[in-house]
Amino acid sequence: MIAVSSPALPSHARIFGASGTVKHLAMRSKPTSVFLDLLAAANPKPAKLLSWVFINEDQLSDRIGPLVELEPARTGIVLIESHWKASLRPYHKQRLALIWANQRHFALEQARRGVHVRYLTATTPYRAVLAEQAKALGPLQAMTPAEREMRADLLPLIQSKQLHLVRHDGWLTTRDDFTKSQSGPPWRMDKFYRHVRKQSGILMEGPKLDKYVGGKLSFDVDNRLRWDGDPQAPKLPVFKPDAIVSEVCDMVERDFAHHPGVLDRSSIPATLAQCQSLWKWALKSCMTEFGPYEDAMSSKSRTIFHTRIGAIMNLHRILPRDVVADAEKADIPLSSKEGFIRQILGWREFVHHVHIATDGFRTLPPESGSVPVTSTPGHGGYALWTGKPWPVPDLLGVDSGGAQPAFLAGRHTSPLPPVFWDSTQTPSGMNCLDQVVTAVWQESYSHHITRLMVLSNIATLLDISPRELTDWFWAAYADAWDWVVEPNVLGMGTYAAGEVMTTKPYIAGSAYINKMSDYCRGCRFKPDVDCPLKFLYWAFLERHKARLDNNPRLFMPMRSLAKRAASAKAADAKVFDRVVQLLVRGEPLTAKALL
Ligand code: SF4
Repeated sequence: MIAVSSPALPSHARIFGASGTVKHLAMRSKPTSVFLDLLAAANPKPAKLLSWVFINEDQLSDRIGPLVELEPARTGIVLIESHWKASLRPYHKQRLALIWANQRHFALEQARRGVHVRYLTATTPYRAVLAEQAKALGPLQAMTPAEREMRADLLPLIQSKQLHLVRHDGWLTTRDDFTKSQSGPPWRMDKFYRHVRKQSGILMEGPKLDKYVGGKLSFDVDNRLRWDGDPQAPKLPVFKPDAIVSEVCDMVERDFAHHPGVLDRSSIPATLAQCQSLWKWALKSCMTEFGPYEDAMSSKSRTIFHTRIGAIMNLHRILPRDVVADAEKADIPLSSKEGFIRQILGWREFVHHVHIATDGFRTLPPESGSVPVTSTPGHGGYALWTGKPWPVPDLLGVDSGGAQPAFLAGRHTSPLPPVFWDSTQTPSGMNCLDQVVTAVWQESYSHHITRLMVLSNIATLLDISPRELTDWFWAAYADAWDWVVEPNVLGMGTYAAGEVMTTKPYIAGSAYINKMSDYCRGCRFKPDVDCPLKFLYWAFLERHKARLDNNPRLFMPMRSLAKRAASAKAADAKVFDRVVQLLVRGEPLTAKALL
């Protein structure tokens, strides 16, 4: 009976126990009965428990961390459904539902495995909830959180020895791998990837496992095909929502109605079996063609051959080590195999290391030093959607993350335009941007090239605040966490951290988008005639030429810029000013309006 075994219940939390007893204390919404009843029926009695483990919401696996070794019958776990954390930012409803549906199913799976489960909901920071738990249960252990924000929340508990952190062994590489692979900062992904391929032996051959399979490290140059519908993209799997998923979705619709995004109940893999089936679908239906078309973008398919596993892998419902091992064994072309493994073993691990090395992009060696941090989390322009400010909860030390100090020529100060929050009411008129934004709010997803070469590219060309864009990504995507968005958007997508982890800004005009997508065919602009991006690209290079002129990777475009006529440059600058004005006012672009 949980009430009996919990002598010191937290004053801000509700606890669901073996008997189904609910102690309801200052909570925000009523507990959902189906989950509670199922947990009560499955939860073993908490007799003679030796070890208590806190399982963070993105560590939902018993195949990593302390649960691997501990005997289920002698183990208790604490899971927290944190409405406080969910309220820090305007997270997409789909993201909230995905996390909590998985966490509730994980709780049940553990109870059925013989592990005693304490499932709490809370409206205060984790540190407060867990301090009460530690008082009642004794010190807890946990894996080191992937998120900096979570590590900061837990720090007082670690200092007071109420919580003992152990290594997060969901990661495939160590800090040592990162530091040994680099001579910097600046840090470079190709050096890291080369090192970990050799260290791990993955996609290596020869008697000493020191030769790259296929003779080269990367097949990236083979993976740049446009996709026009052939071969056909696979249909996405559908997951029939069970009673737990339905309850979570009802709660999100009711209690988080002020959060953005469409909640699609049939696209939430929530049980372990469903998560595994998503990965099996991806292996069978996506991986063969993944590589060659991984950079393609299309209005016919938002996914094309991408696997859609990022969100559940970041929750550890499927493990990175398994997907890498399965991909390595799969009978698929090497360009797909290597391209996929590079994303997981290379880029995903690399960005996490860079996030730690920069303290979440708050210290940027060598030239930027420390960056300003303000005291409230960013909302990514939420008021553009509702007309109301984001209702900031009791923050208790949660800050905004590093706000980059205008790395490019002191600008980067345009606000995010309303189109990023509503491409229907305030469309930009640029089909590429409107299509991708629509996808994001409908699905909490778009694949990585649309993130980089449409959203981040256009924001960068418009000098939009990188921090605001990063916060928008953090709120909007189901797979977003600080260690994901800060490196990918601040570090790479917007070039806000300079060359700390990339060699150049990832910017492109209309030619790239026309080459890699079908967006231009449905656009009011012609890519080689009047497309705003064509002018914005040159205007960007001209505005930031003092910073970019010496970059060897920009030698060709900077040389072309130097030859560009003064009148053309003046026209580029005029288009830039007009586009910023119009988009910030929420007015669509037209060829006439840009004159
Ligand atoms: Fe985007 Fe320009 Fe193509 Fe339109 S023409 S879809 S704005 S790149």
